[in-house]
Amino acid sequence: HLSRATPAAVLAALARGALDPEPIAWQRLADYRAAGGYTLLQRLRSGETGVAALEARLAEAGLRGLGGAGFPTARKWQAVRAGAAPRYLVVNADEGEPGTFKDRHYLETAPHRVLEGALASALAVGAAAIYVYLRDEYPGLHAVLREAIAELEAAGLVAPGFIVLRRGAGAYICGEESALIESLEGKPGKPRHRPPFVAEAGLFGRPTLVNNVETLYWIPLLAAGAAFAGEGRRGRSGLRSFSVSGRVNKPGVHLAPAGITLRELVDEHCGGLQPGHRLLAYLPGGASGGILPAALADLPLDFDTLQPHGSFIGSAAIIVLSDQDDLRAVADNLLAFFADESCGQCTPCRLGTEKLLTLLRTDDWDVARLQALAQTLRDASICGLGQAAPNPVSSLLRFFPAELARAGVRLHAGPPARDAGELQ
Ligand code: SF4
Repeated sequence: HLSRATPAAVLAALARGALDPEPIAWQRLADYRAAGGYTLLQRLRSGETGVAALEARLAEAGLRGLGGAGFPTARKWQAVRAGAAPRYLVVNADEGEPGTFKDRHYLETAPHRVLEGALASALAVGAAAIYVYLRDEYPGLHAVLREAIAELEAAGLVAPGFIVLRRGAGAYICGEESALIESLEGKPGKPRHRPPFVAEAGLFGRPTLVNNVETLYWIPLLAAGAAFAGEGRRGRSGLRSFSVSGRVNKPGVHLAPAGITLRELVDEHCGGLQPGHRLLAYLPGGASGGILPAALADLPLDFDTLQPHGSFIGSAAIIVLSDQDDLRAVADNLLAFFADESCGQCTPCRLGTEKLLTLLRTDDWDVARLQALAQTLRDASICGLGQAAPNPVSSLLRFFPAELARAGVRLHAGPPARDAGELQ
């Protein structure tokens, strides 16, 4: 809201304390330890639990990166460990995908569980230090993590300076792991070309494990035997944290079985749709994962099932839209976000997002031209931002021609698509 506020309004809000972070009631070290916290770390350090056994446990539980990429955690550990020391662990707490707030939830309630997962991971890959990269828009969490790390140091559980807390600076792209690493190194946050992957040459050119907050949160629980794999529907195993917002009665972070459908999630966990609203569409993966119609509300919300529909689950940010929402305005908003957040280093993304937005704001949509431009972005962008940016437009063309017509858009085939010269 502040980005649209006048300077006077911002100053007034500051004066009355409205911008101060809300106090957060988080689980302190003493309470976490009283509940069995840091047992995994002590077992690993004493050799009572071996890294191989923990790794096998995570693989058996099917733990995958929960920041969006879904790469198996145990395999990532192995890849980093294969590189020469020194190695680093980076905790990706730059939760910037629109509609995603699960990492915030876990850090606000159980920061020590996340830190224990990080310390266990650091031990597993032989990391020389842990860097926590926290988005700057979570000011309350800066205080929480600072204090939690100080508690650990005071208790002698971690050497001073082993865990370094760094602030992001508001760039969405810094959630992308190689851009995040650039930013940590003090450079502008621009994604790197790969290979080499960050597991081989990441922070300061060293092998680096980058893990999402929620992935780390689960490690102590799984090691303690949480029945992660026992949950799940339609042949899937485990639990997923869904950040749900939009036209539901109970928005928030909902822990639900993997393989659950949108309809089940809304009915069983979110108290159904708000009165007077009929499901029209949903965004399964925040701004990036496209827009799906109500007719596809019975698909399992999982890594593999949405792809055939030009969509993906990403970090499981579910935004529920109803017949009272304007899908054209939604797509416009998402495109404007991508155009604004593009780091600008590759032409298809820098110019293509703005060009798509311009075309979107006319009432005559040349479908062939839009599709050619979307494909150029997918094929020629360095990172996921540019590759995902056309998804809202592609979704509208594919699933919502009637809604577009109602919004005053005329779709026509247009002249034959040219090539990347479209960008000129
Ligand atoms: Fe930057 Fe966009 Fe290229 Fe990604 S795709 S590197 S955000 S210009």
